[in-house]
Amino acid sequence: NLSERLERSFKILKGEGKITEINVAETLKDVRRALLEADVNFKVAKQFTDEVKSKAMGQNVINAIKPGELMVKIVHDELARLMGGETAQVNLSGNPTVILMSGLQGSGKTTFSGKLARKLKSEQGKRPLLVACDVYRPAAIDQLKVLAEQINVPVYTEDGNKNPVEIAENAIRHAKANHLDLVIIDTAGRLAVDEQMMQEIAAIKKAVKPQETLFVVDSMTGQDAVNTAKEFNDRLDFDGVVLTKLDGDTRGGAALSIRTVVTKPIKFVGTGEKLDALDLFHPSRMADRILGMGDIVSLVEKAQNAYDEKQARELQRKIAKNQFNFNDFLQQIQQIQKMGNLKELASMIPGVGKAIKDVDIDDNAFKGIEAIIRSMTEQERQHPEIINGSRRKRIAKGSGTDIQEVNRLIKQFEEARKMMKAVTGIKNPMALMRGMK
Ligand code: GDP
Ligand code: MG
Repeated sequence: NLSERLERSFKILKGEGKITEINVAETLKDVRRALLEADVNFKVAKQFTDEVKSKAMGQNVINAIKPGELMVKIVHDELARLMGGETAQVNLSGNPTVILMSGLQGSGKTTFSGKLARKLKSEQGKRPLLVACDVYRPAAIDQLKVLAEQINVPVYTEDGNKNPVEIAENAIRHAKANHLDLVIIDTAGRLAVDEQMMQEIAAIKKAVKPQETLFVVDSMTGQDAVNTAKEFNDRLDFDGVVLTKLDGDTRGGAALSIRTVVTKPIKFVGTGEKLDALDLFHPSRMADRILGMGDIVSLVEKAQNAYDEKQARELQRKIAKNQFNFNDFLQQIQQIQKMGNLKELASMIPGVGKAIKDVDIDDNAFKGIEAIIRSMTEQERQHPEIINGSRRKRIAKGSGTDIQEVNRLIKQFEEARKMMKAVTGIKNPMALMRGMK
């Protein structure tokens, strides 16, 4: 996966403080290849890597993070930015609000119409009307009726009327008369872009002036999705994109390509055939998906926030001189706690997440340790070797623990110290704690 490749191509950077042109060029080749594999349009991929290059150059590499990881983060953030950064809103003004669907046959328009009606009904208290403007296939009307029944929403149909513009207009009148405040118009698609379909949907749009015209596209169609999006947008100037069938193993590269080519926000993603399989589009999550890297980005972010560079250097120096003491130990524990929920954190480490899914990691695990260290005198903390039996008893009492716990901690500490000494070749003690070398 891309994140592993980035790590690899950044090996040469170890020990350097900055990202330089030479290592960036190599890495970006990998990024571009990965984007193409994820179905990103080649022009978009090129434009993207150029942008990342200028962002990456000269970035300071924080001690706590491997340069490869930082690069992954830069790539991730740039991907998310290009896909709109924020989650886009739907315009619900107007009474009724009119939302028009467009897209090829099989893209998921009818299913999405049902999903959207369900969502806005339950979350916004909207009273939706589903309108069947796919006049060519009787089965299409039945399909909408079945969906509507599942979510208990009325459907507007006109038997025998073959004019979708009229049907749409009549449906809006019907909605007003019946105090329905949301009209969702499902239209007919074709298997490929076709002049009659375009004329028809453009005519509906012109007649009903919807608050939102949404373009629905099957994310599994890859490169074709981009061309289709462009043709629909040229014709309809739509307001947003719905990316369906993201529950498959598609990487979602279409999201980036479409967004870049038509510069319209992606508003929703469909993640299954069921009516509740609908999500708002989150650029950052999609960037994760395109990179195929799980949560490594959040991990890097957390480490970045929590870890202080100067402190890391000082710690390294102490370990090298075998001066690591209980004060440092305490500081490290606090550092880890600052990083948040331990299990959550551990689960972000690639390869670890699945393994610890069912393991109990107690966030209070450190509380006892903290109490014990706090019951030590300054001298004991700095020179743990003086902590004899009577001191151990006193510490146990002071910390409200028992002598076994104190013994265990001191033993663990000594082992940790030994291990750290043995691995001072490794630049960054945090890496050890995070289980990455
Ligand atoms: P339309 O021709 O554009 O109206 O497309 P439909 O709504 O009829 O959907 C075509 C097919 O795709 C149907 O079998 C749907 O169940 C399926 N479908 C729609 N959205 C999704 C989705 O998000 N995930 C999956 N797996 N299937 C979907
Ligand atoms: Mg349909």
